[in-house]
Amino acid sequence: MVLGFNRVIVWPWIMTKGQASTHGPLKLAAMRILGIESSCDETGVALVQTTGAALPSLLAHALFSQIEMHQAYGGVVPELASRDHIRRVLPLTRQVLAEAGAALADIDVVAYTRGPGLAGALLVGAGVACGLAAALGKPVLGVHHLEGHLLSPFLSADPPEFPFIALLVSGGHTQLMRVDGVGRYELLGETIDDAAGEAFDKSAKLMGLPYPGGPGLARLAEQGQPTAYKLPRPLLHSGDLDFSFAGLKTAVLTQSQKIGPAAHTEGAPERADLAASTQAAIVEVLLKKSMRALKDSGLQRLVVAGGVGANRELRAQLNAACAKAQVRVHYPELHLCTDNGAMIAMAAAMRLQAGVQQACARYSFDVKPRWPLHELGDQPMTAGAAG
Ligand code: ADP
Ligand code: MG
Repeated sequence: MVLGFNRVIVWPWIMTKGQASTHGPLKLAAMRILGIESSCDETGVALVQTTGAALPSLLAHALFSQIEMHQAYGGVVPELASRDHIRRVLPLTRQVLAEAGAALADIDVVAYTRGPGLAGALLVGAGVACGLAAALGKPVLGVHHLEGHLLSPFLSADPPEFPFIALLVSGGHTQLMRVDGVGRYELLGETIDDAAGEAFDKSAKLMGLPYPGGPGLARLAEQGQPTAYKLPRPLLHSGDLDFSFAGLKTAVLTQSQKIGPAAHTEGAPERADLAASTQAAIVEVLLKKSMRALKDSGLQRLVVAGGVGANRELRAQLNAACAKAQVRVHYPELHLCTDNGAMIAMAAAMRLQAGVQQACARYSFDVKPRWPLHELGDQPMTAGAAG
């Protein structure tokens, strides 16, 4: 879908000499940015307000999680996910606008998740965003899902400041990054196989917990002994900042076979012990590598983002280690750890403020199901539309 005109909206800003801020040029126009997230199994919509160079604020957000629908299959079914995004996205948009007391005409920019994620699911959000923007005559902007996670702590009551080390731990990714500003991301290390969230989910499945098992495993672990079973800490002493969790999953499988039916029987102490031991192994690796990244870089700030960042044990251990090392640690609000529209609207707002991307009234779009975060700098300064 290519309309007959291409109009690049350049937001009016005035950079006052000597007043460059970490959030970009000063005296930016006030904007209301609608964000649409549909990369996987959550439909999220949010409205964010920017005022000058101040940190954007969240006016309203709404989320529909498809988890219950996918639970019957033990994982996300892509086709069902896409169809459900279609059903949810417009009612959620209406809900967000009503909660913010705003009308469609009040939206200045429509942002959407361009990738990475499930192709069909991404196409729903991208299509709706570009259709809506075309109808309103407003510009669009495609956002990287992981950048959304990375910048989500800026929506919290205790927002970080650049530069910082970011630990991105989600269902699909485990990465340590050095973040010097909006769009300035250096990959320090990442998983060479499974993500931390995947390790939680696959281990939980072995214990008979429903998808996604991370939160359930964490709850079960509270009743168990973390030292009950000796599980490997892969790549703990590798000397670099990479991760590997596939071997841990195999070790959990072997251990659960040794335990027998008690490993997946509700109420069995062995099951809680296995959950606690698994969580301890994952948390120790994430903790040690994060502290190493901080030490190597000399930075004094850590940002933890992504679904696994909601894990209480991880937070407790990171808090303790960071307090000892005199490092400030920041998290997104608990309800904004997993996928949501607020982080997409926020990332779009911060990119516009920093002047690293412009919203563009060009309504042809593509999606990027595979899109490494460190390639973000390579994209054109436009909405990210193809052709
Ligand atoms: P993605 O964007 O890759 O889908 P999310 O950021 O939405 O990932 O996070 C989902 C992942 O977070 C799942 O693997 C889930 O099990 C995990 N997760 C959520 N809460 C917790 C928790 N309290 N403890 C451990 N893992 C968790
Ligand atoms: Mg998710």
